[in-house]
Amino acid sequence: MGQILKANCNCCGFTKNVSFGGNRSNFKEVCMLPAVDMKKGELLSLNYYQKNENEDIVFYNVKKLHSDFCNQNRIHRNFDTVIYMEGNYCPICKTYELDFQTYLMTD
Ligand SMILES: [Zn+2]
Repeated sequence: MGQILKANCNCCGFTKNVSFGGNRSNFKEVCMLPAVDMKKGELLSLNYYQKNENEDIVFYNVKKLHSDFCNQNRIHRNFDTVIYMEGNYCPICKTYELDFQTYLMTD
């Protein structure tokens, strides 16, 4: 279920590889998910299951990081966790032009 996703912004050209999901041995403890540090304007990959005390960190399965006008059917799924392939918030230029495309399957 693990994937490396390539984040790509159609507006400012920002790209970064992020992790999504876990793998066969650790999927109960690990669900990697792209997230934004709203304060620093940084794209991160963090373990969604690990308790996060930092209020500036928002994961991409949260509605506010995602445009209502994108294609709602094009998703990446890891069990109950879903993120959208397009229409995501770009922390660099602050538009909803960021795509997540599969770059590599990790198991
Ligand atoms: Zn951008």
